[in-house]
Formats: sequence, C-alpha cells, structure tokens
Amino acid sequence: MQLDFLVFGAHPDDAELFVGGTLAKLSDLGYATGVVDITRGELGTRGTAAVRGREAREAARILGLAVRENLGLPDGGVSITDAARMRVIRLLRKYRPRVVATHYWDDRHPDHVHTSRLVAEAVHHSGLAKIRTGQPRYRPPVLLFFKLPWNVAPSFVVDIGAWAGRRDAAIAAHRSQLYDPASREPSTNLSQPDFLDRVDSVHSYYGAIVRKGKAEAFYLKEPLEIGDPVAHFYP
Ligand SMILES: [Zn+2]
Repeated sequence: MQLDFLVFGAHPDDAELFVGGTLAKLSDLGYATGVVDITRGELGTRGTAAVRGREAREAARILGLAVRENLGLPDGGVSITDAARMRVIRLLRKYRPRVVATHYWDDRHPDHVHTSRLVAEAVHHSGLAKIRTGQPRYRPPVLLFFKLPWNVAPSFVVDIGAWAGRRDAAIAAHRSQLYDPASREPSTNLSQPDFLDRVDSVHSYYGAIVRKGKAEAFYLKEPLEIGDPVAHFYP
C-alpha cells in the first residue's frame, strides 16, 4: 500500500484543525490519505486518552482516511530520540507517502515544535540504506508544513470551500475538546464558544487572498518547481 498524503499531527485533533479540509478534499479526489497522531493527547485539560481515541476514529471516518495511527509518545513530552525517530521511519517505509505534511517548526506548543523536527529528521533518515528496519529505504519527495505563524507567508494554499462542512464535522468529532455548556471540565482555548469561528476565520483569510471562500495554507522549505509555467496555469 502507498499513501498519497500522510499528515503527522502532535495531538489527536491537530490534523483536523489545520488540514481537515484538504484531507476531505483529497479523499474525495480518490487519493489514499492518512494521519499519524504522535501522542494520545492524555495531558489535555479535557477528555481522556480513551475518549480522544474514539473521537479520532470517528473523525477519520468522516475524512475518509485510509489509515489513522497513533505513535503513543508522551503528550507534553514529545522529544527527538533515536527510538522516536525510528518509529516514524518505520511508518514512512510502511506507507511510502508521496506527500508528507506536519507542523511548522515555530509554534508556542513545544510538542508541535518537536513533532516538526522529529518528522523532518525521519523523512531524511528514512532514505538512508544503512538505517535498517527490515524495510526498503524510502525518502518522501515532498514535505509540507502547516499551522503557519501569522508572519509567515504560505508557499501555496488549497481551496477547501466545498469541504469546509466535512472539516467542521471532523473537528466536531473531538467533542471532549470543544464548547459544551454541560461540561464540568476546566475551560481551554478550544472549549471557548467562538473557537470554531476563529478557525474558520483563518481559512477565510487564506481563501480571500486567492479570491476563494476558504483555503488551508502550506509552507515548503524550497520554492515550488514548475516545469511548464504555461500549462501550470492553464491545465
Ligand atoms: Zn496540538
């Protein structure tokens, strides 16, 4: 099996929040998509690892994911160790994704920072033959970054206008994290009543830049290489 698009998120709702529309769109376009959650989110103020696992499985169904796995690294303590890197390399060699996406490396949450570096290092080392896992070596050709700081311009954006509803449904599957007037758990940024509106506003902003309704933003470390600049704009 080869995945077309594999997302690594630090916590069980990160993929949905930042690239949920793109995941829904790609699966509708017939691509094999997957998400690997690095932690179970057990340090989260609300919910438990078991509840969050059920919510992640429901979101995976909504997004049409072919694969959703959890690496089970400690929430709040994601660190770049040889063992952690080997686990990511094994997944990369197992699923051989054509495109990998993960967190941008500058983020206020340390788990997002470390996930970004862990995945980037694994993407590189997965191509080294002398790192042995019993699988053929494989280096994914494309590594994208999401959840960009406010002052980082995207390399490109993906129009998710028709898929914003599926993105919303996938985010809403993470019920334990979101606004619930009946909940007695402590409140968080995500549990504020206007949180989903704020997520949507960011996607409306990226969409407005390209004269679309909603879009999700991605960053590439290298410029996008276009072989035929006429055919690219007139496919
Ligand atoms: Zn997170």
